Amino acid sequence: MDDCIFCKIVKGEIPSRKVFENDRVLAFHDIQPLAPAHVLVIPKKHIASMNEAQEEDAAVLGELLLTAKQVAGDLGIAESGYRLVNNVGPDSGQLVYHIHVHVLGGEQLGGLNV
Ligand code: 5GP
Repeated sequence: MDDCIFCKIVKGEIPSRKVFENDRVLAFHDIQPLAPAHVLVIPKKHIASMNEAQEEDAAVLGELLLTAKQVAGDLGIAESGYRLVNNVGPDSGQLVYHIHVHVLGGEQLGGLNV
């Protein structure tokens, strides 16, 4: 997707502070962190949101969660705890339409206790 910010980050056209990368997924620090630890995990393939995810995306969606776990460990927040967030659509506040998992932690998190 030519006009997608996260596709540009994948291609290196926009700089990011990467914490993990392989052929399928990329993790990098959020530019406006909402917690002491705030990393985004994305697939390199453009999927706009969970609403557009298909059966064929099952493996990479699973890899996003496993990568988030690994990132939490690398950031040293696995034991104290963290939150994984995936916003879907306008009511959730999704701003970037390239699917991503937020990894948030490093402090006692407030907000919705779901
Ligand atoms: P959303 O609201 O779509 O779930 O979250 C999008 C996130 O992407 C926001 O937390 C925002 O700060 C982050 N973000 C937007 N543009 C950039 C960027 O160019 N670089 C980085 N690292 N994060 C970004």
